[in-house]
Amino acid sequence: TAARARFVERNPNSLKLHEEAVKSLPGGNTRTLLHNAPFPAFIKSGRDYQVTSEDGHTYSDFVGEMTAGLYGHSQPAIQSALISVIQEVGLSLGGTTKLESQHAALLCSRFRLDRIRFTNSGTEATLHAIAGAKAYTGRSKVVVFTGAYHGACFMFPRDVPTPNVIDRSGWIIAEYNDVEDARRKIEDESPDDVAAVLIEGMQGAGPCIVGRSDFLLQVQASARKIGAVFILDEVMTSRLAPGGLQELEGLRPDLTTMGKYLGGGVSFGAFGGREDVMRVYDPREGNALAHSGTFNNNTLSMMAGHAGLSKVYTPDVAREFNSMGDSFRQRLQAISQGTKLTVTGRGSLLGVHFLTDGRKELNSYRDRKDDEGLKELFWLELMEDGFWLQRRGSISLMLPTPKEEIDRFVHCVEDFLTRHAS
Ligand code: PLP
Repeated sequence: TAARARFVERNPNSLKLHEEAVKSLPGGNTRTLLHNAPFPAFIKSGRDYQVTSEDGHTYSDFVGEMTAGLYGHSQPAIQSALISVIQEVGLSLGGTTKLESQHAALLCSRFRLDRIRFTNSGTEATLHAIAGAKAYTGRSKVVVFTGAYHGACFMFPRDVPTPNVIDRSGWIIAEYNDVEDARRKIEDESPDDVAAVLIEGMQGAGPCIVGRSDFLLQVQASARKIGAVFILDEVMTSRLAPGGLQELEGLRPDLTTMGKYLGGGVSFGAFGGREDVMRVYDPREGNALAHSGTFNNNTLSMMAGHAGLSKVYTPDVAREFNSMGDSFRQRLQAISQGTKLTVTGRGSLLGVHFLTDGRKELNSYRDRKDDEGLKELFWLELMEDGFWLQRRGSISLMLPTPKEEIDRFVHCVEDFLTRHAS
């Protein structure tokens, strides 16, 4: 298409860099999601709410590093925490530090957890939460939901796990937002074998398919009923309220997984919850599960994460920011009426969809029938308008983005709809 041709023309340096990258990285890529045909625009640097590409284009960053970029690219409190690690604390200390216990204490109080453990990513948090649930219950199966993404090797886009899921047996896959299917799969299929029920309160990879309250409560109740560990994946949603989506929905998970912005923009993951469940990881106990990880307590993540949550993303800021996100989504929903655009999400996280059947609500990944051509055109043309977006349509707002840029985005979307999708 013409838009694709313009993309190639506007990004000659990226093309050259891509041609170099394919010589050492498969497809020039080390994060599948960032692969875009014909080649990705290479990003050189970021500042505040903007990123600048290797071709000299500056964009308003609406990718927000898939929620990890909440603070933007140069938040002063986070910068000074990182500088003080480099100048005063040091890296890779090979010992226990008070930095990890201070961040742990803050996270436990914010998210109402008895105990927490750190990992390097949300993927590892999933891995260890599941291992903990299996050890605690002595059972082996895990119930998950269609469309779920719990990390690089925990993807369930259909009713079978993707091929890179570790150990492809032992999963029971229920339909998201289907109360009866969830109840049946959890309570009736093999209740004595189910160690854990693992679910996102909003499916981030949907993008942003919101879990209905009655459904989430039913899943929690069914997990309780059969004695399985109820694990809520809050890797994306922990930012939606001071105490995460569980606070908004009145959920009380046994374990919660977290990650992303809670490391202040540095590599991070965590899982935690009930003391008796987390005790399986207490090395003072006989038969404790091992959970090592060279960088679990790395000083950069501990300091940056703590500075961010204690000084920047305070409970008031979290509430205000997400209510701004809600009004942004409502404005987009208003202009989407009578067009092929559908906007989903909650608070500061949004999903932008172009659907062939014109649905205005998405209850499950299965319902999503993308108009691929329009979706790509939107991504390419909004990039020309100066917005850095993810091709799949997730928007993760960043704290420093000025209101004018949010307004400008709405206007550009409106123009796009007039040109192509009315
Ligand atoms: N769980 C959810 C809901 C996620 O969105 C992600 C990442 O996008 C993960 C887990 C995995 O986190 P990470 O990319 O840090 O491994």
